[in-house]
Amino acid sequence: MMRSMLLLCFLFLHIKATATATPTATATATATAKELVVYTSRKEHLIKDIFQQYTQETGVSIKYKTGSSAALIQTIKLEGQNSPADIFMAVDAGSLWHATNENLLEKVNSGVLKINVPNHLRDTQGTWYGLSIRARTIVYNTKKVKESELSTYENLAHKNWKNRLCLRTSKKVYNQSLVAMLIYELGLVKAKEVVAGWVDNTVEIFSNDTAVLKAIASGQCDVGIVNTYYYGRLLKKDAKLPLKLFWPNQKDSYGVHINISGAGLLKNSKFKIAGLKFLEWLSSKKAQASFAQINMEYPLDFTVAQSDETARWGKFKANTHFNLTHAGKLQKEAIKLMQEVKYK
Ligand code: FE
Repeated sequence: MMRSMLLLCFLFLHIKATATATPTATATATATAKELVVYTSRKEHLIKDIFQQYTQETGVSIKYKTGSSAALIQTIKLEGQNSPADIFMAVDAGSLWHATNENLLEKVNSGVLKINVPNHLRDTQGTWYGLSIRARTIVYNTKKVKESELSTYENLAHKNWKNRLCLRTSKKVYNQSLVAMLIYELGLVKAKEVVAGWVDNTVEIFSNDTAVLKAIASGQCDVGIVNTYYYGRLLKKDAKLPLKLFWPNQKDSYGVHINISGAGLLKNSKFKIAGLKFLEWLSSKKAQASFAQINMEYPLDFTVAQSDETARWGKFKANTHFNLTHAGKLQKEAIKLMQEVKYK
């Protein structure tokens, strides 16, 4: 009895000591983990191959659980110190910010991550890091809109676009981050005017970006705002659709709104050094290329090879001075603004 109690005590202390090991240690230290566990809202088919590639290179296998960010955050909270998860991966900075806000993510200090992940694409405290860029831009029906009619996100609020706009629901974090960016760039009053103008011009609100694209292609509306990879997926099925992307806010403006898929190391991970090493590997140029290409997203470093599709869509100026931490910080204000202007 005494022996088993001592053993339990030892195990408890050992686990605790490992769990609180400093994450600021560099990943050059020997990682003993044979397996890491990732909780991710990124879909299985977009991560499976790249995780396997890591296993082939390092011998560390990667297990994963997929689900919505909100559900995964809830699970991590409930599991507490017993959570098997080492890494939390999400597809919007707003969701990663929530995980930080719930005190689930460890602050890491990694020179590799700082070099590989540009400043505006990582948390200011170092709790999460972008791994690929997703652009949320304007799409239009080429039979109904001339490219010269388009200019900025703000311009879609002009009465010229009355009954010509289709939008995705304001419940989606992608739009909450977009409006957070507008608040940051334009100030609350102007941002509210813009979003109110959009709502006034909108024909219909849809539950997802693909439905927005289909409505524009069918002529139900002329223009909308979507993440570019949904456009890429739809055009792969039917290249003849009269749809084209437009890069707004290019001249004397802040640039295209970009977001990230990204990840952070969990505070209750038992393998923090191995977890950090995995994050550093995911941020490498080679991994960036696979991670971005598989979903027609953009690598963090625009000089890294892109997919044929994204290369074809042309170059654009991205908003690089909106640090995505603000997408989280301003999220409540963005939601309130959208409710006030009755954006459903
Ligand atoms: Fe998406």
